[in-house]
Amino acid sequence: MVYIMDEQLAKIRSGDLKLYALEKLMPADEAVSLRRKYIEEETSTDLSAVGSYSIPIDRVVVRNIENMIGCVQIPVGVAGPVVVNGEYAKGSFWLPVATTEGALTASINRGCSAITKAGGAEVRILRDGMTRAPIFAATSVAHATEVARWAEDNLLLLKTAAEETTHHGEMIGLTTYVVGTNVFVRFEFDTKDAMGMNMVTIASEAAAKLIEEETGARMVSTSGNMCCDKKPSAINVIEGRGKSVSAGVFLPDEMVASVFKTDAKTLAEVNMRKNLVGSARAVSLGFNAHAANAIAAIFLACGQDPAHVVEGSNAITTVDAVPGGVYVAVSLPSLQVGTVGGGTTIATQNACLSILGVAGGGENPGDNAKAFAEIVAVAVLAGELSLLGALGAQHLAKAHQELGRGGSK
Ligand code: NAP
Repeated sequence: MVYIMDEQLAKIRSGDLKLYALEKLMPADEAVSLRRKYIEEETSTDLSAVGSYSIPIDRVVVRNIENMIGCVQIPVGVAGPVVVNGEYAKGSFWLPVATTEGALTASINRGCSAITKAGGAEVRILRDGMTRAPIFAATSVAHATEVARWAEDNLLLLKTAAEETTHHGEMIGLTTYVVGTNVFVRFEFDTKDAMGMNMVTIASEAAAKLIEEETGARMVSTSGNMCCDKKPSAINVIEGRGKSVSAGVFLPDEMVASVFKTDAKTLAEVNMRKNLVGSARAVSLGFNAHAANAIAAIFLACGQDPAHVVEGSNAITTVDAVPGGVYVAVSLPSLQVGTVGGGTTIATQNACLSILGVAGGGENPGDNAKAFAEIVAVAVLAGELSLLGALGAQHLAKAHQELGRGGSK
């Protein structure tokens, strides 16, 4: 065995065997081990820690990664339980959070505790649609306008072409944008339990081919960046992309005092001056304290595409000081989540989705992904509450000193 490995290594070194081709010649674990050994030699690095993992990788090397050499491990903790009063997620949930940021899990946990004591957070999905926007080149402004009008007038034909490529995806609409000779057609799909980027890319391409055939416009790219995938963008904030979700909770004055050691007026002021005025002055797309933190930690734990933290963090936090307490809410216009496909089937990530009871396809397709989106929104709310509370009580630096720096004083 050692002899064969040495022989293969020699072939890799000479270029006779390509690193990416190893899985075609041997079982996945052996291919990964051989590739790691080669990289260890090339870089004079001990990669034994990267080579120690528990997940079965037969599907992973086919579906999730190329040139795999092992796994980077991220500690996963739990925050909660948190009571969620959604339309899809109802009950008490332990939140799996994968992070290396000390104090983050404790912070979300504190917010969960307040939400649960208050009877739970209400959460609603306002809109649901994953988008892909191919770009077409027309020959003139008049032609571009004709192309856009043809697409708008033939939604049903385009929907039929798109839906031939998927069992679950449904085209729910399209919007056109003309810029000179450029025509963008922003297709929107209900992707049920899938986050849906692969699904809608394939389906959009089928619809785009029909536009090309019928209008004579040339499709330049399946994505024209008006989708707008994995980039900060106003269009996603305004029109929504993926799930648009709002979660809120009323906290009575006594609870704000006992859990957060501050008061409603201070929470509202910190939110207004920091999250609203500060973000406006910075021309940020995220008017929140740290929505990205909770989203990234749950996305990593639950096999979501981490690049979608960019869009998820376009969130607005609002704090209304009302008689007897404070109503705190988060609104996330572009949250991309799925409970099937992508990284959700990897054993450790799937286990984390199972903690939430949303792994795989829902009995009614789409319900699991919607429940998951509601839970993520409540996790963001918990994180916002906790950080606003810490800022209000001027406790932030102390908490980080105690938790993030190994308790050093
Ligand atoms: P996927 O793993 O490519 O496909 C999931 C498939 O699961 C669906 O296409 C669907 O098949 C099937 N399915 C089974 N039960 C389902 C249910 N209950 N609801 C919905 N679908 C169900 O996943 P994806 O969500 O489309 O794409 C996610 C991946 O795309 C991630 O890995 C992400 O990193 C990657 N990504 C791709 C692009 C791109 O441009 N291609 C961009 C960003 C991210 P049917 O379609 O036959 O129904």
